[in-house]
Amino acid sequence: MRVTVLGSAGSYPAPGRACSSYLVEDQGYRLLVDCGNGSLANFMQLAQVDSIDAVVVTHRHVDHMADLVGLYHLLRFHGGRTERLPVYAPSAVLEIMEALLPGDDALHDVCRFETVRAGDRLSLGPLDVSLFAADHPVETVALRVESEGARLAYSADSGPTPELARCAAQADLFLCESTWAVPFDGRPAHLHLSAREAGELAAQAGVGTLVLTHIAYPGTGEQAVREARATFDGTVVEACDLRDHPVG
Ligand SMILES: [Zn+2]
Ligand SMILES: [Zn+2]
Repeated sequence: MRVTVLGSAGSYPAPGRACSSYLVEDQGYRLLVDCGNGSLANFMQLAQVDSIDAVVVTHRHVDHMADLVGLYHLLRFHGGRTERLPVYAPSAVLEIMEALLPGDDALHDVCRFETVRAGDRLSLGPLDVSLFAADHPVETVALRVESEGARLAYSADSGPTPELARCAAQADLFLCESTWAVPFDGRPAHLHLSAREAGELAAQAGVGTLVLTHIAYPGTGEQAVREARATFDGTVVEACDLRDHPVG
């Protein structure tokens, strides 16, 4: 299994960074996880849009789903798929898509939306995907993806919660949000993690490699890695757009 970062910015784009998106590939199967603003351009540098087998969107915030609109238009007018593209997401994602595309009935001819929630398990090609409840103001699912002994976890957006440690338990690679590279006073609860908290979760979960992502500008990857190393003594790297990581 391999994961390629298509968008590593936190909440809004940053220099050289699109918003959240990740391409998970295993045995020729391609799962797109989140589709934040700007990330589709990064995807296009790697692969043809028809090669996506399924999409999982973690929540309805635009930095995780805005480019679903562009993906739909690309598939509709320039795609060669014979079957609809499955899109697994909390129900609010479809509501937002329909609001962004008023009167556009072709959406459901191109995409097949499936509502998912925490606790669900999906069998997607060779991938066994389990969904966990993130701690975020809107319904949000974190993902655990397993295939032939390889284990990948993705926090989505979340404040600190034991659910994330369960999601990431013994993962080979934990893609964890660290919106706040450096902690600050007065940060809202139940929203995001600091890099230090990402490190704590990685230590609790016993993960192999921690990849810090969703870093909010002007915070930097260097700051985030330094902070996370204070709480986690495994391998820590920053996510960068178009960089890929082997899993397992
Ligand atoms: Zn976000
Ligand atoms: Zn969010």
